[in-house]
Amino acid sequence: MGNKVMFENGKLIIPDNPIVNFIEGDGIGIDITPPVIKVINAAVKKAYDGKREIEWREIYAGEKAFKKLGSYLPDETPELIKEYKIAIKGPLTTPVGGGFRSLNVSLRQVLDLYACIRPVNYVKGVPSPMKNPEKLDIILFRENTEDVYAGIEFEPGSDESNKIIELLKKFGKNPRDNSAIGIKPISEFGTKRLVRMAIEYAIENKRKVVTLVHKGNIMKFTEGYFKNWGYELAKDEFRDQIVTEEEIWGGASSDGKIIINDRIADSMFQQIILRPDEYDVLATPNLNGDYLSDAAAAQVGGLGMAPGANVREDVALFEATHGTAPKYAGKDKVNPSSLILSGVMMLDHMKWGKAAKLIKDALEKTIMQKKVTYDLARQLENVTPIKASEFGDAIITNL
Ligand code: NAP
Repeated sequence: MGNKVMFENGKLIIPDNPIVNFIEGDGIGIDITPPVIKVINAAVKKAYDGKREIEWREIYAGEKAFKKLGSYLPDETPELIKEYKIAIKGPLTTPVGGGFRSLNVSLRQVLDLYACIRPVNYVKGVPSPMKNPEKLDIILFRENTEDVYAGIEFEPGSDESNKIIELLKKFGKNPRDNSAIGIKPISEFGTKRLVRMAIEYAIENKRKVVTLVHKGNIMKFTEGYFKNWGYELAKDEFRDQIVTEEEIWGGASSDGKIIINDRIADSMFQQIILRPDEYDVLATPNLNGDYLSDAAAAQVGGLGMAPGANVREDVALFEATHGTAPKYAGKDKVNPSSLILSGVMMLDHMKWGKAAKLIKDALEKTIMQKKVTYDLARQLENVTPIKASEFGDAIITNL
């Protein structure tokens, strides 16, 4: 019988037989989730000689939930994620006209999973458009609850947008009549808790730089304050452990300290291509992070290889970053690596690092042996693709 993961005094307590919830996912979820669970189980067994074991429990969201329980997102699903603290999910279809913006966005909002964490680093053997893809080794902390992404939008010509336009005119601003209106709230609270998590991660994982990515030169009061509050938090709460780039320019030593700097978002897209090894931990508002994490993932092999998690202090939901690829659903064809690497993140989060490393090394070995699914095979010469399930089994053999 499994036991519950607990959260006490700011720390997760993981039993040797934790209950972990999983959502299979729509479309290709059926192809990737079973091999991922199999790989994680095999790695945990090998790493801890059978003394540790995850008890998996299926919970429902998406089409499977609709068929079984009559709702795309049953109330009990976020409740169970909250109660059991750790969950992993395959991709979910956004039902058209169902009243949801997206099931993923709904889950993040209902659970207040305020940080989207995406590590981006190179797995040897993966085809990449870059000459030195291994130079990029960053982890993005993207704010998940605010910004234009929070969905405060009004249709052109609607009563609400007309009223807002009238109000803006009173403030001396002149949007065109019949404009669509979107609102971009960025708060001190939302910014600081995100930047705090990024700096704490950097300290715990001995990273060297935390970069605040913003467009504050143009959006001075939203993105600009993201930057200002980020620096303020760093100085107020981590003074002994950090030094700002500006302080270094003024002669301060960075010895053993985490450097806090900031970059304008557009320049950041160049920086990760031209000077990838100068970056480490990035903290971004919601929209910048959305664009930047996919662009960064492209440099190391694309979304099929990109893991991710949505987290708050006590709850974490790990997920594949790609969608449901419906044309491949049930064909046992697609690459399960994104979800496998999210599983690696999950094991690291549980401090089961030995099992995490076993999987990461075995995944790399499998790809180096050119045992790969169609998406990687088509970018390599003379490689015959294997099935998703065969790829999972090959990783288990290589553990
Ligand atoms: P998608 O499902 O990510 O698929 C786009 C293309 O990416 C696929 O046709 C395939 O490329 C490639 N791909 C995706 N996953 C792959 C994998 N595991 N292995 C190999 N190749 C993979 O994006 P979409 O077609 O735009 O979206 C479909 C549905 O997914 C929508 O309902 C959308 O709302 C949903 N979605 C969900 C999530 C989520 O749950 N987190 C995220 C994004 C989208 P090729 O055709 O070139 O082989």
